Amino acid sequence: MGDPVLHARAAEVEEITDEIRTLVADMYETMDAAPGVGLAAPQVGVGLRIYTYTYVDDDDNEWRGEIINPELWHVPTEPGEPDEEHESEGCLSFPGERFPLRRSDRVRVTGIDLEGGPVEIEVDGWRARIMQHEFDHLNGILYVDRLGTRDRRIVQKIAKKLGWGVPGYSWLPGVDDLEG
Ligand code: ZN
Repeated sequence: MGDPVLHARAAEVEEITDEIRTLVADMYETMDAAPGVGLAAPQVGVGLRIYTYTYVDDDDNEWRGEIINPELWHVPTEPGEPDEEHESEGCLSFPGERFPLRRSDRVRVTGIDLEGGPVEIEVDGWRARIMQHEFDHLNGILYVDRLGTRDRRIVQKIAKKLGWGVPGYSWLPGVDDLEG
């Protein structure tokens, strides 16, 4: 949090080059090492519209992929306060914390994969949350930016205490040990 690349709109990928393929391979590795359920390119310092995701459902089926230049549609978000237990999320760019956030329960995402083939995803529940969280990253939005006033204040306090919120801080999953 605080690094400019995390707070700016990421650029479209013009062409899938070897550089992009290497980047995506690195993103999978980083996401798995964290571990996280999603990772957007700006989180590894690259301002491009790419994210990876992974999710294991109750039947142990792994749902996993990358999406480039995504577009996202969602059904309206239910009004009301989010539930602390079932609607809390975290972020590798604000590590070690979780805060409740209301998200839309259903999304449709289109884009392309690393082979340039079309991707079309329609998901609900936790997977819809992952899509919205990662898509936000491509528009320079962190989930902590979307929290209510009380949690926003807590976030600011934590950031201040840890020295976050300014450029240049990073951690390397699999190398730096971070709780949460
Ligand atoms: Zn995140």
